[in-house]
Formats: sequence, structure tokens, C-alpha cells
Amino acid sequence: DDKAHVPIESLDSLSKTSYPMCMQHMHNTLRKEHHLRHGGRQLYGLFLKAIGVTLDDALRFWREEFTQKPEIDHDKFDKQYAYNIRHNYGKEGKRANYTPHSCMKIITESLGTQDQHGCPFKHWDANKLKSSLLQQNIQQIDVQEIMDLVKDGHYQLACTKHFEAKHNGVAPDGGVNHPNQYFEQSQAVLRG
Ligand code: SF4
Repeated sequence: DDKAHVPIESLDSLSKTSYPMCMQHMHNTLRKEHHLRHGGRQLYGLFLKAIGVTLDDALRFWREEFTQKPEIDHDKFDKQYAYNIRHNYGKEGKRANYTPHSCMKIITESLGTQDQHGCPFKHWDANKLKSSLLQQNIQQIDVQEIMDLVKDGHYQLACTKHFEAKHNGVAPDGGVNHPNQYFEQSQAVLRG
């Protein structure tokens, strides 16, 4: 499609303004640990493809992070990780057009103890979720509302409330059902 390309240099800023929490967590974990496990690479990689990151940029983005780990040099990156990135863009294997995961898929995923790629509203414990919300400067009253929704198992409504809190009360059309929909509607609101 003819969607504008999103340069990887803008991801730090976009992750703060327009990412849902699942993707903020992927981005922050990758920046901090220079690594994501397979499930996270799939989840975040397909999200990035769908927001408009080109294959060349995606390879550069993942390579720059992963090769900061002493045990991963460029050669190892190319052998072990580049294939899957190209695969996600339909350039290897079945050349299928892989679609990014929906909220329902992410929420119902069963995670291993070291996996990071869940829905924070569903998979995080209350303390961790609450302190992350407060760090994003979300007001106490909104944080409380989000925590109440989570307690009742309304994860996507909690995410919708998170969107509202970050966009001056503007609600996403039809609630949140997909991380890329969250992103696109956020960009639409911010562009005015
Ligand atoms: Fe991500 Fe969906 Fe969970 Fe929001 S509700 S954090 S978009 S998986």
C-alpha cells in the first residue's frame, strides 16, 4: 500500500505518544536489554511492519539492538535473526502476508515465565501495572478506573481508558481491538 514510511529514528518518540502499552513494553525492553524472545520479536516485528517501517529499516533496527549484546555479532545476527524478519515481510518461506496480532490473540496467549510479549492489562501484576501507569503521568483518578476495569477482567476497556487518558479524553472509535488500530487512531488524534 502507499502508506507513509515511518523512519526508525522516530520510534522512541512514537512509543511514548502513540503506542499501546503492549508495544511500549516491547520497545522499552528491546532498548534496555537489546534482545526480545521469539514471541516478542514476532509481536513487535509485525506491529512495526504494519505501522509503515520498511524491511530495510526493520533489519537495521533489530541489528543495531541485538549486536549490542557481546555474544551476537553481525554474522550471527544475519544467520539467526534476519531470516525471520524477512519472513515477516513475506520475503522468505511461503511469502505470505503475515498480519499483526489482534488484542484477542495477545490477551489469550499463554506466556512462559521469561516471555514479555503479553497484554500488560492481562498479564502484569497489579503493582507493576499501576506504577507503569503513574510513570506515564496518567492521573490518579484515571489510574484507579483502569485498575478497576482490569480487576473485572475488562482488559480492552482498560486499554481504551489508557488511550483516553493519553489523548485529552478523546476515545478511540469502537474501543481498542488491535494494537495497530490504537496506533493509527492515536496518530489521527495527534495530527488533529
Ligand atoms: Fe495491547 Fe490490546 Fe492489550 Fe491494549 S488491549 S495493551 S492494544 S493487547
